[in-house]
Amino acid sequence: MIRITRTIHVQAPLKQVYGFLSDFSNLTEWDPSVRQARKSTPGAVGEGSRFEIEIGTVLGSIPMTYEVTAHEPPHMLELRGRGERFETLDRIRLEKMGDGTRIDYHLAVHLDHQTRPMIRRCLALWIRGNADRALKRLAAAFDSPSRPPVINSGTRLADTWILPGLVGFTRFGYHWRRKRWHPLAADLSGRTIVVTGATSGIGKAAAHRLARLGGRVVMVGRNPDALHNTAASIRRQTGNTQVFWEAADLSRLAQVRDLAGRLAALDGGIQVLVNNAGALFRQRTQTPEGHEASLATNLLGPFLLTNLMIPVLSAQATSRIITVSSGGMYPQPLDIDTLAIPGSPYNGVQAYALAKRAQVVLTRLWARMLKRQGVSAHAMHPGWVDTPGIAASLPGFHRLTRHFLRSPEQGADTIVWLAAAAEAQIGNGGFWLDRALHPIHILRRTRESESARRALWRYLCRETGWEGPEPWETASIR
Ligand code: NAD
Repeated sequence: MIRITRTIHVQAPLKQVYGFLSDFSNLTEWDPSVRQARKSTPGAVGEGSRFEIEIGTVLGSIPMTYEVTAHEPPHMLELRGRGERFETLDRIRLEKMGDGTRIDYHLAVHLDHQTRPMIRRCLALWIRGNADRALKRLAAAFDSPSRPPVINSGTRLADTWILPGLVGFTRFGYHWRRKRWHPLAADLSGRTIVVTGATSGIGKAAAHRLARLGGRVVMVGRNPDALHNTAASIRRQTGNTQVFWEAADLSRLAQVRDLAGRLAALDGGIQVLVNNAGALFRQRTQTPEGHEASLATNLLGPFLLTNLMIPVLSAQATSRIITVSSGGMYPQPLDIDTLAIPGSPYNGVQAYALAKRAQVVLTRLWARMLKRQGVSAHAMHPGWVDTPGIAASLPGFHRLTRHFLRSPEQGADTIVWLAAAAEAQIGNGGFWLDRALHPIHILRRTRESESARRALWRYLCRETGWEGPEPWETASIR
């Protein structure tokens, strides 16, 4: 039997610490050995809740299951773990200490009697080292860094040397960066988050995680049945009853205006808007309002919705706009003529990349325009993610890369992090992948001028009929 007893103090209220610690689907956040963690039973965490865990080792991954065997919030928690050749017992006690919380952690690991003594000794060393690292990360998760974010020189170099940058888009990039990021004990209770495109892929995974973290989630999509079923499933899985939906086709501006009116009428306002809905069209398509579908879905709809939501967002102490762009925008400069009239024959990949480039430019315009109103704007890209969207729009690419693609949860991670992290950690106007700031341009030829940014804004105002304030009055952006 290997026994470990440790005590740590964390700077957070007892109830918050208990909530975070008792949900072992948060293990990926603070235990460096855990590659994946998922709650496999429905409802809120309680006695009998189970978690499926994948531990990563140099020799491959080890699956195990945890079951909550005692749950006495906010003071005591016990979980029994089972793997193929071992059993564990985690007993955790929490006490209020001044402004913070004391955590007494006891871990007992029982190895199969056939385990050789040499292996037993090595495992004991590894388990002790890992427990120390995990508890250090657990304490850090409640203590957000106050340094403003900067682009790390290694990240800039990897992105500029295109090939390492592309490897970073795969799940390997996610696992590699995950080891380096500062853990976060996210708590979204009291916040309302609107997620567009929430019935599939990345948006669905984000809505699920945001609900698990206690947020009130409003899912937006086109299909009422899909919205109803997805919201019901998220409520059942997470035990969070505050999951709602609103139907709207974001490529149709009349529906966007109606949607904004309904969202503005929500009690308690909105703190986070996630512009996630998007699509790559393989053939030129026109919306019933006469817009090219890629432009309408990826740009006109999100532009109008975000501008219409500004009064609601800025009525809050601090609020955020998060726009899901794509790494596909890197080789594409801003080109308003082609955005307005795509070339013939239609090139769907280019139309998509153009709209995604424009989303990043818009994010920086919103960031400077709304700073004084307490609203920040962030763009992110999810990497290459295995979703119904990518399988339908790029079937060849999907077939070729499916073993390297990220899961929707991994793709959604940075969206959730941007919604939950402290303001100082995320700054304003950045472009993010895997919780790290990334350059907006890796090629000199994609840099746009200030006049091109103005032209984009004015073009979008004309197309959507938006007549609100312009972002130019404040200091210029680089
Ligand atoms: P997905 O097709 O699985 O999900 C997209 C969601 O958006 C769906 O729920 C869809 O119904 C919704 N949607 C599409 N058009 C809409 C409209 N007009 N009105 C309302 N809802 C609409 O795709 P995904 O891969 O999860 O993509 C999510 C976002 O991530 C998109 O913005 C996409 O461009 C971006 N992205 C994805 C990848 C990837 O590898 N999957 C890579 C880079 C960026």
